[in-house]
Amino acid sequence: MNELINEIQRETRQYSAEQLVEYVVERFEGRIGFASSFGAEDQVLTDMLCKIHSAPTVFTLDTGRLPEETYRLMEQTRQKYGVRIEILFPDCAKVEEMVNEHGPNLFYESIENRKLCCRVRKIEPLKRRLAALDAWICGLRAEQSTTRTGLLRVDADETFGLIKVCPLADWTTEQVWEYIRSNDVPYNELHDKGYPSIGCAPCTRAVKPGEDIRAGRWWWEAPEHKECGLHLHAEDDKGKRETEK
Ligand code: SF4
Repeated sequence: MNELINEIQRETRQYSAEQLVEYVVERFEGRIGFASSFGAEDQVLTDMLCKIHSAPTVFTLDTGRLPEETYRLMEQTRQKYGVRIEILFPDCAKVEEMVNEHGPNLFYESIENRKLCCRVRKIEPLKRRLAALDAWICGLRAEQSTTRTGLLRVDADETFGLIKVCPLADWTTEQVWEYIRSNDVPYNELHDKGYPSIGCAPCTRAVKPGEDIRAGRWWWEAPEHKECGLHLHAEDDKGKRETEK
């Protein structure tokens, strides 16, 4: 896989985000998917993908705890682009077992419980879906937090064993919003209410002016714990530096 990644990195070094999306969609035709959580970056990528491909593979994780605003945006996105969005659900028996044992809001009790919830509701469904792919696209950006510096546009995803493509890895927040405005891309109304980063409703809150853009995610935890394993860096398999959308 490393040789292939090196080759793609070489060939696409000068490519814009759109060109990179087009390149990987063609190169991995039928074996690549885009995981959207309907954040601003994901909406940019949905717009790019739908302009490139008439029926892109787009999927999302419905944890069962998403804000209503995200469901509204999901529907708005489906309508605007006419795109089929696969909605992945967690294993209901595992959710039942977890909630019956630890309670519905277990994530506030301990980091272990929070990671358990993220694993059951997010990681396991994502893992099942990625098992059928050779590459996946996601909206991570290096600027989003200190745990994402060094993020490459094309890299090995050691956690899930495929290639991860982050076309917006080197984009700034301003670029994202400029694209959204110029292309009339629908976005989550929570962004206008002080939420720069949006996840599950009980684990996300608005940030104050000047606060880190991810300060509203799992706000009760120390920054180094703010991960759930969706984006584990290769070099951190043995150590621990993970990021989460
Ligand atoms: S973000 Fe919160 S509610 Fe969502 S899966 Fe993780 S712990 Fe559970």
